[in-house]
Amino acid sequence: MELLARRFDTDQTVRLEIADGRIARVTAVERRRSVELPRVAPGLIDLQVNGYRGTEFNSPELTPEKIAGVVRVMDSFGVTRFCPTLTTEHFDVLHGCLRTIAEACRSPEIGRRIAGIHLEGPYISSEDGARGAHPREHCREPDWDEFERLQAAADGRIRILTMGVELDAATDFIRRTADSGVIVAIGHTAANPAQIRAAVDAGARMSTHLGNGSHPTIHRLSNYIWPQLADDRLVAGLIADGHHLPPEVVKTFVRAKTPERCILVSDLVGPAGMPPGRYGSSLCDVEVLSDGKLVIAGQRELLAGASRPIGTGIANVMHYAEIGLDVAVRMAVDHPAELLGIEPGGLQPGDPGDLVLFDLRESSQPGEPPTFEVRATLVGGEPVFGRLEGVAAGG
Ligand SMILES: [Zn+2]
Repeated sequence: MELLARRFDTDQTVRLEIADGRIARVTAVERRRSVELPRVAPGLIDLQVNGYRGTEFNSPELTPEKIAGVVRVMDSFGVTRFCPTLTTEHFDVLHGCLRTIAEACRSPEIGRRIAGIHLEGPYISSEDGARGAHPREHCREPDWDEFERLQAAADGRIRILTMGVELDAATDFIRRTADSGVIVAIGHTAANPAQIRAAVDAGARMSTHLGNGSHPTIHRLSNYIWPQLADDRLVAGLIADGHHLPPEVVKTFVRAKTPERCILVSDLVGPAGMPPGRYGSSLCDVEVLSDGKLVIAGQRELLAGASRPIGTGIANVMHYAEIGLDVAVRMAVDHPAELLGIEPGGLQPGDPGDLVLFDLRESSQPGEPPTFEVRATLVGGEPVFGRLEGVAAGG
């Protein structure tokens, strides 16, 4: 197959030849003025997806078919690999969900898409604000035996564990978890600065959705945000959906961490993609507002997950942090791949045929971010979403 598109990083128009699931050749060509060609980038990687359009991964009703349904939604978002994310729950529910995801991964079509499971909780702070929408009654102290049983149920596929690092014996637990090859991420925490430093010394490598899952009010200087911003050993997950972090906070975080240490995540949840209204979810009752914002039902301030795909985050972070498309795309491709230790996508011969073709449209509203519109997604060189008319040059 051959595709014509503009590279996301240089804007050069290229002909991509794809064979045997990989990029076989990349040739620069003169821009064709008659058709508007899409941009091309490696497939996006999203480390935090809780579900979408009525499917919640954290549910006793999860089935491999429902997981396949979310994979098809990811096709439409240009996401070629992602981490299904499970949140704080009773052991039996988590155990069942992990087994179901592991079972689904035995299908090669699903397995290649799932870059690992993100277990967000249950070892998190039970304090209001810090726990976000996680149910208080299931927030608990780290328990290595329990974690080992969960990891066994997952066939060893848990790759990220988000935890509150101030809990009993947290440093010891972090060390064991990191030694087992799992990425420890700091999140939903009430830790003080010394506890954050101790967690990083023990092997924590990531901040989960930095700034969110935090108390509404914290000490202005001595809190858990500054030490995570300052520590270059931590990469920061950011939800740049326009709801979770104000634009100036996104810009400040990106400048402090540097773009190389930032990873965009969507944090999509089950009620995302549903019409406005009230829905029960595994976490709590959620209201979908008319602008797509998801809040804990009955109030307007506390968010209950996100509704916008990671491509929206790419467009927003360009605008908020004043960075180029190439830098923003790397926050959703290279940096998550590096953290997980998986093959990053690329646009060189030999790179996987996991690609997203998209348009970046300027907003008609002055001062608003552009929009990221997926035209087509390819996985292993095969189209899984969209139309290739105008860009495909022969089969
Ligand atoms: Zn969270």
